[in-house]
Amino acid sequence: MIAVVEPELDDLSLGGAADLAGAGRAAEAPFQPVLIDVDRCKGCALCVAACPKGILALDETRVNVQGYHPVHLTNPEACTSDAHCARVCPDCVLIILARPRPARGVPA
Ligand code: SF4
Repeated sequence: MIAVVEPELDDLSLGGAADLAGAGRAAEAPFQPVLIDVDRCKGCALCVAACPKGILALDETRVNVQGYHPVHLTNPEACTSDAHCARVCPDCVLIILARPRPARGVPA
């Protein structure tokens, strides 16, 4: 089952880290709509092919604990949280976060 998570405004820091291992409080970091469990990725690139925006790529500058080049998000701002990538990943590596919306009554 694929879930798109809509974080509460208090949980914005979760989106500040690209890797699950690094997910922590990072209030000033830009929102990251895709959380990647880097060490579970086997670099098959199914998600890269599935992304309609073309903003996923294998990171050839690093190798994970399995010896693969893991996927990374190249342009978080262009991500629409459509979760095409997470649907095709056979290893459930990706968690998709919906872009936070301002609270009611708060100007954007
Ligand atoms: S589909 Fe999953 S295992 Fe394959 S490259 Fe993407 S995140 Fe990694």
